[in-house]
Amino acid sequence: MANSIWTTEEFTCPGCGMNYTATREEHSEAHSGSFKCSICSGEVHSWSGKHHFFGWQAVKTKPLVFGRRWAGVQW
Ligand SMILES: [Zn+2]
Repeated sequence: MANSIWTTEEFTCPGCGMNYTATREEHSEAHSGSFKCSICSGEVHSWSGKHHFFGWQAVKTKPLVFGRRWAGVQW
């Protein structure tokens, strides 16, 4: 149980510069996938290997609604 290791990584869209974060999960089996920018549809990141990325979120560098910094916040 609970052997999965989750880490949050940050990516920048090469097309428009939008920042995203994703949760990386280590797996014992190979996965592959890719994530495309919701703004410009450019490929932000693609992966293949014993890990998977999920929970993609656009990073708002200036939170308008939330008074706390986005980093480390449990949504
Ligand atoms: Zn983009």
